[in-house]
Amino acid sequence: MLTEPAIRWVGPRRVVADDPAADRGVTLAPGRVRIEVTSAGLCGTDLSVWNGTNERAEPGTVLGHEFGGRIIAFGDGVDSMQIGDLVAVDPNLSCGRCQRCLDGRRALCIQRRLLGVDVDGGLQQTIDVDAAQLIPVPGADPRALGLVEPLAVGIHAVDRAGIAEGARVGVIGGGPIGMAAAVEAHLRGAVCSVLEADPARRRAIVDVGIADSVENPWENRSLDVVIDSVAREATVRIALDAVRDGGSVCLVGLSHDAHLPGPESLVRREITLTGSFCYRTADLRRAAEIVADRGVGVIPVELVDGLDAVPQLLESLAAGRIGRGKSIVIPRITADIP
Ligand SMILES: [Zn+2]
Ligand SMILES: [Zn+2]
Repeated sequence: MLTEPAIRWVGPRRVVADDPAADRGVTLAPGRVRIEVTSAGLCGTDLSVWNGTNERAEPGTVLGHEFGGRIIAFGDGVDSMQIGDLVAVDPNLSCGRCQRCLDGRRALCIQRRLLGVDVDGGLQQTIDVDAAQLIPVPGADPRALGLVEPLAVGIHAVDRAGIAEGARVGVIGGGPIGMAAAVEAHLRGAVCSVLEADPARRRAIVDVGIADSVENPWENRSLDVVIDSVAREATVRIALDAVRDGGSVCLVGLSHDAHLPGPESLVRREITLTGSFCYRTADLRRAAEIVADRGVGVIPVELVDGLDAVPQLLESLAAGRIGRGKSIVIPRITADIP
């Protein structure tokens, strides 16, 4: 028999691999879909659970909210899907009835819960989800499916910032969300530069060609739009210095130490300041198109082989060894038990 390990958080800085599929029934409930996970990303949210600072997570939860894979089974009433279809998963669980849900803004549902934080997530070999959570990604590289969710975060930020063709756009932070915002800004015809301190990340951004430059600093009041994927006090100040009068600044980072500027600078300079949280379903669909088209090369990635590598990967990400890009885990069968 083959094991199907899951990466379960059991307490601060501790995860174990065990077998959550053992008690999973063969028959799925109506509307439920079973997915073999082929790609799963890790981000700061996973680290906040892992290190014990995320107050919502209960010990025992399987990590992972950025993932996708191949449909291997489904229950009654799932008509639009077929076995073998490639999908990304919207990890937000929502009521499906409130106005925000009906508007396609499931992440803003008041009853929202997140896979990998509030309930078991995708860092496991197989997972059952609602058909309503699926985003089809036909023709994609199965290893790239975990990129749809973080890419959608960047796409939504670009949407919220309101970027027009030819706009001069600055992105603060060359992590996966900043990279994703740069990809979308570029696709919309913006001239984009990224502010990033890490030299390896800067090289990777140039190599993949997702920004026109990583030359810093920016000239004062020279940009139409700044997207701040860090959103600390210092970076918000950089954003406000760099944006032109009448321009816009969009905060997408969740640093918890953002001190917003006084009204004086916003009022006199007519700066539009917006926040951007997660994505709409439309952003996930747009991300799926880009991932189907570009595969794992859409942003710089580090592919990590096997769920059993995750404990070490969490340690090394927490220690600041961020690598050249997004960490994507490719699950596989790890052991043969007679
Ligand atoms: Zn994430
Ligand atoms: Zn709702």
